[in-house]
Amino acid sequence: AKESGRGGYRFFSPEMNQKLLERRALEADLRVALARGDFRLAYQPQVNLETGAVMGAEALLRWDRPGVGNMPPDRFISVAEETGLIGPIGTWALQEACREAMTWPDHLTIAVNVSPVQFRQAGLFEAVVSALESSGLAAGRLEVEITEGVLLNDTDETLATLRRLRSVGVKIAMDDFGTGYSSLGYLQKFPFDKVKIDRSFVRHLGDDRSAEAIVRAVVGMSHALGVHTIAEGVETAVQADMLRQRGCEEVQGYMYGKPMSGDDFVEMLTCSTGV
Ligand code: C2E
Ligand code: CA
Ligand code: CA
Ligand code: CA
Repeated sequence: AKESGRGGYRFFSPEMNQKLLERRALEADLRVALARGDFRLAYQPQVNLETGAVMGAEALLRWDRPGVGNMPPDRFISVAEETGLIGPIGTWALQEACREAMTWPDHLTIAVNVSPVQFRQAGLFEAVVSALESSGLAAGRLEVEITEGVLLNDTDETLATLRRLRSVGVKIAMDDFGTGYSSLGYLQKFPFDKVKIDRSFVRHLGDDRSAEAIVRAVVGMSHALGVHTIAEGVETAVQADMLRQRGCEEVQGYMYGKPMSGDDFVEMLTCSTGV
């Protein structure tokens, strides 16, 4: 009771200790997974809404954690960021995604997520170039997905890195657009090739007028600035129709394909083109 007034004591609460221990264990497991090559990438198709053609895929990190099972990236990326492990994990993802995309028809693109911490680390540009060089993938086939977290600090440096990436032909997509503090102003300030409309808006298409208005505004503003739009998390035909009516070019979501292994993605391509 008396001690509860003194902040320091709270550090030794059992819950706190438990959390710390869990974090340490997670960090240790991440290091082992990285060293052993336990991470995998899943590929989710990105589809042209007008023609139904597969345009490419987004690479999503997968980890079968020993003794735990499938760990969603949302549950370990923050620890990877805090411990700096996101650097080597992200570099691995870039290499692996480019290598995999080399086995696809060469009009298809590959989108790779780059976290804000990874983006700010020295050598991000070099890691991207090295992934392109060692795989032989044309730069124009690689798209880097960044979130607003990338744009919040170090504006000049961020802008310089984005420009460098674009100068070699790499595409930039603004992920999760419309969430957090991301604003339409970002579209003008930073050089994007694509805007990804966040699932939280897509989910409410058909039952929430304000979500519809936001989608309409984002697509309209993007087009005015010459930027393509892709909607994420499309699950129903109603959502797809509303996006099509509003001029959104591409879609990604369970309706078109869940994240899958590289082999399954290639098989899907073969089936859909009849090759
Ligand atoms: P994100 O970039 O917004 O990725 C989209 C997430 O939505 C993915 O979850 C995907 O599996 C899921 N999703 C796709 N379509 C649907 C749908 O129709 N319905 C629903 N309910 N969900 C859908 P996932 O794979 O668990 O990834 C979660 C987040 O983890 C990603 O969100 C991304 O921020 C992060 N992430 C994943 N891979 C990487 C990576 O290689 N590097 C970094 N830095 N972050 C990653
Ligand atoms: Ca993404
Ligand atoms: Ca996203
Ligand atoms: Ca999202």
